[in-house]
Amino acid sequence: MFVGHYGPALAGKAVAKSVPLWTLFFAVQLVDVAWGIFVANGIEHVRIVPGFTEANPLDLYDMPLTHSLPGALVWSVGAGLVYAIWARSQKRLGGVVIAAAVFSHWLLDLIVHVPDLPLWPGGPEVGLGLWNNYPLALTAEMAVLVAGLFLYLRVTEAKNATGRIWPWAFLALLVLAEYANHTLPPPESAAAAGYMATATFIVLTGLAAICDLTRRAR
Ligand SMILES: [Zn+2]
Repeated sequence: MFVGHYGPALAGKAVAKSVPLWTLFFAVQLVDVAWGIFVANGIEHVRIVPGFTEANPLDLYDMPLTHSLPGALVWSVGAGLVYAIWARSQKRLGGVVIAAAVFSHWLLDLIVHVPDLPLWPGGPEVGLGLWNNYPLALTAEMAVLVAGLFLYLRVTEAKNATGRIWPWAFLALLVLAEYANHTLPPPESAAAAGYMATATFIVLTGLAAICDLTRRAR
């Protein structure tokens, strides 16, 4: 899953209004940000196999630190604690929402990944494999994203014209990013795949900050 992960990020704003959207955008992709850095540096491993699933060419055969169930739980609790220490208001609620946002990544990955998510490092691997049916995977992804956007728009209001337009422009950009992710030629190496992924997540986090600047909680 790629842009669908941002559905829970947008929905998080409905639960804890003080948490900046950019923080939620970063949280939902935290384990993939780490994954990108880890595969680029040989800590975790991926093979590029064109046609591996209908959705993408990634054979994600080794990612125990970022995508095992206990790994995802540790990242979630850690991020929630860091947020709770750092936040100025809604410390406890914000921390819980950030932890849930980080963990939502594993749950959504579970739907689309082929069995490559270890229940524990070295343990059985799970994944419902929706990536083998790209139209279905794309529908699920877009449904989660649009549901999140709908909630976000209900709990926030525009401060100015940019705030009225930006969420829709951002949605169009995310759809475009999903399209590019599916149609561009496969990355040349694991390192390229990793750095591309991490860079993309950081750019999208920056673009989410424009929502924070141009919209406020209702
Ligand atoms: Zn992932």
